[in-house]
Parts: sequence; structure tokens; C-alpha cells
Amino acid sequence: MHEMSIVADLFTIIEEQARKSGATRVTKVKVLIGELSGVVPELFRSAFHSYKKGTIADKATLEIKVTKIKFKCHGCGKEITAKNIMDESFSYACPFCGSKDMELISGRDLYLEKLEIETS
Ligand SMILES: [Zn+2]
Repeated sequence: MHEMSIVADLFTIIEEQARKSGATRVTKVKVLIGELSGVVPELFRSAFHSYKKGTIADKATLEIKVTKIKFKCHGCGKEITAKNIMDESFSYACPFCGSKDMELISGRDLYLEKLEIETS
């Protein structure tokens, strides 16, 4: 399962950050999952809860926020959102200036946004 290896990577980061902040326990983990990341939030959630057993985040709750797809056009500098992309006229060109020089700036990755910890 794809999600399991992502969760394993995430826990490497969680344990490193927790150690750096002197945490004795992680109480809450907040992640951002991009719409285009290929990660299914519900699979990710169940992978998280089975992986956390025996780790510093044993009792942690998980909050998932799905981030929307967003492009930035290098032609005119405007940001293009999923709403524009769903337009029938959208053909991977900027709807404002027609440039195809666009960069995906949001919606692809998975990030650890926040950790809540206890230190005693
Ligand atoms: Zn443009």
C-alpha cells in the first residue's frame, strides 16, 4: 500500500521534530494532502493509526486538510485555481493570457503542517 510508505516517511519526520523539541509525547499531527498527490485521505488515516502504535505519537490524533490544485502562470503572474481548470475552455494554458508556461504551486505534495506535543 502506497500510503504506508508515505506514513513511514512522515513518522521519520515526526520523530525527528519531536526529539528536537524535547517532546515526551505527540498529541496531534496535522498534515496537508494535495489533491494531486495520489494519496487517499481515508487510506492515509488508517495507515497512520496502525503505524503510530509504539511510537512517540501513540496517542496522537490526526487532522487532514486537502489542498487544492493551484498553478502560477509565468506569462502574466496570475494564479489559476481548480475552478478555472474545470472550465471546459481550460486546456493547460493560462485562461488569462494563454501562456502554457505554468507551474503547479499547490496540490501535489504532502506536508506535515503542525505537531502538537507534550514535554512533561
Ligand atoms: Zn497567464
